[in-house]
Amino acid sequence: MSQPADLLIHARWIVPVEPANVVLERHAVVVRNGRILAILPQDEARSRYHAPESFELADHVLIPGLINLHAHSAMTLMRGIADDLPLMRWLQEAIWPAESRHVSYAFVRDGTLLAAAEMLQGGITTCNDMYFYPDAAAEAFDQAGMRAVLGITVLEFPTPYASDADDYLRKGLAARGQWHTHPRIGFSLAPHAPYTVSDETLVRVASLAAELDTTIHIHLHETLQEIQDSHSRHGVRPLTRLARLGLLGSNLLGVHAVHLDQSDFDLLALHGCSIAHCPTSNMKLASGIAPAARLLNDGITVGLGTDGAASNNRLDLFQEIRHTCLLAKVSTLDATVIPAHAAIRMATLNSARALGMGDLIGSIEPGKAADLCAVALDRIETRPCFNPASHLVYVAGREHVSHVWVGGEIRVNKGNLMLQLNDSELLALTALWQTKSGS
Ligand SMILES: [Zn+2]
Repeated sequence: MSQPADLLIHARWIVPVEPANVVLERHAVVVRNGRILAILPQDEARSRYHAPESFELADHVLIPGLINLHAHSAMTLMRGIADDLPLMRWLQEAIWPAESRHVSYAFVRDGTLLAAAEMLQGGITTCNDMYFYPDAAAEAFDQAGMRAVLGITVLEFPTPYASDADDYLRKGLAARGQWHTHPRIGFSLAPHAPYTVSDETLVRVASLAAELDTTIHIHLHETLQEIQDSHSRHGVRPLTRLARLGLLGSNLLGVHAVHLDQSDFDLLALHGCSIAHCPTSNMKLASGIAPAARLLNDGITVGLGTDGAASNNRLDLFQEIRHTCLLAKVSTLDATVIPAHAAIRMATLNSARALGMGDLIGSIEPGKAADLCAVALDRIETRPCFNPASHLVYVAGREHVSHVWVGGEIRVNKGNLMLQLNDSELLALTALWQTKSGS
């Protein structure tokens, strides 16, 4: 007898990510109550389930929704404001002054909404964010129907958002109190970086993270300068300092990890930390090439992030996936490292696990949330197709994303974004902030 479901998605190919290195042909995903109920051959799905909605994706590959493991979403409003500068000059001469002039609740809400629209259209269903006004970002991600983890940003210096570390924590925790029961919105603690946060505050963050059972999201070992400065100010490398302060653990998500020595690899592996690899941002700011293949080899969970739109300048995980593969190969002179399936896994299941959300998202498995992305491989440049995993990494881009679901609800349909705001309303927001920022 046929069982009821909410949604049936028949796809030419499915890359479930778990089990690893598998491509299913002519299978269907059955969705009920926002969760994946079954993955089975299409004929069986048609006879065993009936649903009010079904999609026939005859030339498409279905993958788990991509997870952006590191973003500053509202920085879409500062895209292209300053390019071609190294990190510290870029921060001190361009970004921090611009933020001190313009950042507000409305800036973060509007900028994040634009980021969410861009990310959803590029197949991203979850974003791990770090910025000011996490309550404004929560409002935007809620409106866009995306899943998000919002960092409670902590700095020592004042910004229009908060005056000192206490104030950042107090406001961030208040936002968490307001939003944390939302089914798609979570919170982390986000001390900006070892060089912007004091020992005392880092210790407080570690104890709060344990108390609240949250991830700690922190920029780490991004530039050589950061490591030299840590040596002169603290006498040790940043990771050694964090270990001494009690920050390292399986809930520690370090962003970048470009410059690592043996002691750093050992600490990350020993404590089960995770890394958000952001290859495009690292290239653009000339920070270096993170040793992603070696980290993976050491058993460290490495996911992928875009970083903010002011240092990338695209919130495009297809680009990060491709850069990850190419950089790993050219930096090791070994073409076999990080093959296609491994890179797709980094942008999905590894990122989910780094967020402590590996039971909910990151793969197409029964019981998980139906966060899904379909990529159309029916164009001249994607045909013929001998291996859809290869095409996903080396050929396809976000322009080939045709359908996106979050928790079984459609967010992109045949390439069209399904938001309450239409494209011209979103473009009006960009025009508004272009005028405000230019004045
Ligand atoms: Zn960043």
